[in-house]
Amino acid sequence: MIRGGQRLIRFLPTYRTTQINRISTMTRKDELVTNYESILAQIRDAEAKYGINNKDQVMLLAVSKLKPASDVQLLYDHGIRHFGENYVQELIEKSIALPKDINWHFIGGLQSNKCKDLAKIPNLYAVETVDSLKKANKLNEARSKYNPDSPPINCFIQINTSNEEQKSGLSDESEIFEIIEFFFNSNTKNINLIGLMTIGSWETSHNNDPDYINLDFENLVNWKSKIDSKYNTNLKLSMGMSADFKQAIKQGTSEVRVGTDIFGVRPAKH
Ligand SMILES: *Cc1c(COP(=O)(O)O)cnc(C)c1O
Repeated sequence: MIRGGQRLIRFLPTYRTTQINRISTMTRKDELVTNYESILAQIRDAEAKYGINNKDQVMLLAVSKLKPASDVQLLYDHGIRHFGENYVQELIEKSIALPKDINWHFIGGLQSNKCKDLAKIPNLYAVETVDSLKKANKLNEARSKYNPDSPPINCFIQINTSNEEQKSGLSDESEIFEIIEFFFNSNTKNINLIGLMTIGSWETSHNNDPDYINLDFENLVNWKSKIDSKYNTNLKLSMGMSADFKQAIKQGTSEVRVGTDIFGVRPAKH
């Protein structure tokens, strides 16, 4: 009796720690799944409310930057396959650690000297921040050199719709037309133009007036009309984040990029 009791006391702390770890992992999964499903439901409501009769539903891109790979794995286990990342090194590490059928979207500021490293990631699905012909060319060349058997990289051209100097993206018409024509060139088989992307200004994304029209989003929609009619394309739009995704749906986006509302507030980038 006494020996058994002693053993029980000795093992009790270990047993409790294991249970607590298991419970906290479960809770994080519940939290992420609940948040994700809540945003998805809000997206579907907004589509219905604003009469979006698009056959293709708005895509929810889960932005996992600065969040641990374990968070991505938990949502992957719930069936999510599209994730967005901003930093090349972090994306490389996650792409190695996580399942190979994840479709990664690079949505951070694109540097010419990082295009090669990005293109080497076999399951890099999209680069949403292409803002020069030179970078598009580097992505294409590196993809054909290092990953010729992977699908072409889907590209969005980033447009600077708010004319803020610190924002990347193109705003010059001739430059935009030049890069679009580059994608139609027969030598660019490893990159594929699929859409336009923008990040609106902070002010436009935090306006709570229900009748508000976000001028940055409107600007992107106008670029789409202009390009679609000139080149007979049907480009997708990637606009809208946690603060303004409903507004983006109202104005006709194809994809919203949501981080904070799914994963919670991010740690500071060091
Ligand atoms: C971080 C980021 C997001 C997600 O922003 P949240 O406000 O956290 O939803 C979307 N798009 C881009 C380009 C980002 O850098």
